[in-house]
Amino acid sequence: MTTPPEGALAPERKGIDDLRIDEPRLLQTIDAMARIGPGRAGGCNRQALTDEDRAGRDQFVAWARAADCQVAVDEVGNLFARRAGLDPAAAPVLAGSHLDTQATGGRYDGVYGVMAALEVVRTLQQQGITTRRPIEIGVWTNEEGCRFAPAMLGSGVVSGVYTKEFAYARTDKEGRRFGEELERIGYKGMLPARARPYAAMFEAHIEQGPVLEHAGCTIGVVTGIQGAYWFDVTLEGVSCHAGPTPMELRRDPWRAAVAIIDGLYALAREFAPWARFTIGDMAVTPGARNTVPQRLVFPVDLRHPDAASLALMVERFEDLVGRSAADHGIQAAIAQVWHMPATRFDADLIDLVQRSAAALGYSHQHIVSGAGHDSLHTAQFAPTTMIFVPCTAGLSHNEAEDAKAADLAAGANVLLHAVLEAANTP
Ligand SMILES: [Zn+2]
Repeated sequence: MTTPPEGALAPERKGIDDLRIDEPRLLQTIDAMARIGPGRAGGCNRQALTDEDRAGRDQFVAWARAADCQVAVDEVGNLFARRAGLDPAAAPVLAGSHLDTQATGGRYDGVYGVMAALEVVRTLQQQGITTRRPIEIGVWTNEEGCRFAPAMLGSGVVSGVYTKEFAYARTDKEGRRFGEELERIGYKGMLPARARPYAAMFEAHIEQGPVLEHAGCTIGVVTGIQGAYWFDVTLEGVSCHAGPTPMELRRDPWRAAVAIIDGLYALAREFAPWARFTIGDMAVTPGARNTVPQRLVFPVDLRHPDAASLALMVERFEDLVGRSAADHGIQAAIAQVWHMPATRFDADLIDLVQRSAAALGYSHQHIVSGAGHDSLHTAQFAPTTMIFVPCTAGLSHNEAEDAKAADLAAGANVLLHAVLEAANTP
């Protein structure tokens, strides 16, 4: 007879609280997925609805079936791998993310959330634990949006933001249509692509930013996704010769631009610490060093996690552009290009993730997602939240994307306990 090592609990005394995922198995699974559609520099190129995406999906389906899950595919290719619950009529708990990647993407973005959910189901299967509610592993189609714009398309159709016809008609750079590519890879399913009742939805994800690593914190308890607006600002003046024209007689659009940019920095300070504003480009016409420009066109990206604050920022920004242009005799126009609404996650699920992290002894803090995720859409029809783990140097959408094994395991353990509790609530 062998005696268990000191400190180890005898199997029969192991309770739910002691349950942990299998870290090496989680890492091996992530590694195996990364070898499908490998990038050139250690990352991945598994863009939506390519042969590589099909191979990744096939592998996932095989793993899910081996873990006693039934896999359903909806009309836009979203996958739902269901582990039965004791009450088949109860609304399921879903955990998942996406398997498609950027052309030069990392091996964790999206994949981690799916593999962590698979690891949760494998752990329950291995331990013979059944839950009251069914548990589903969700894989959303075309989250990245790099091949077919817009991003988060599969979850967007299910939440009702887009129609499935809209999704089918999206084309890539070569003119190939989403609908035809979906059929070609064999993942156009029968399940209607619309919202069904869910008790809870969780998405584990690498942070894709530097906040957790900088704070030395293991778990990000995600409270929401910040809202964003994209605008194009056009400032029209009068172009003239840089030599003969006195400064006071010019109608130089830069005058207005300087006032606007200065005002935007002040606005971001006023709405600190959450406000973000970025001017990532500037088009100068005609663009000659000895000519006062006729026209300046620049994009403005404004962000804030609170919808009311963001709306106020937009109001103040529009006012700022109008005033600055009028002060300098410049014509101004603002065009809204895109809007991502600010999303607040479910308060009970946020609390559940926080309690799970605390019970497991992991350092944790509240965090707002700076990037968009499928959870933005699912939050519109189901109680939703996310779990973040740090990634090295905050790097993502880059083949060098990396994360520590211990952090990946910690996030999966928090997911395990959050899913278990949500799946056993009446
Ligand atoms: Zn992602």
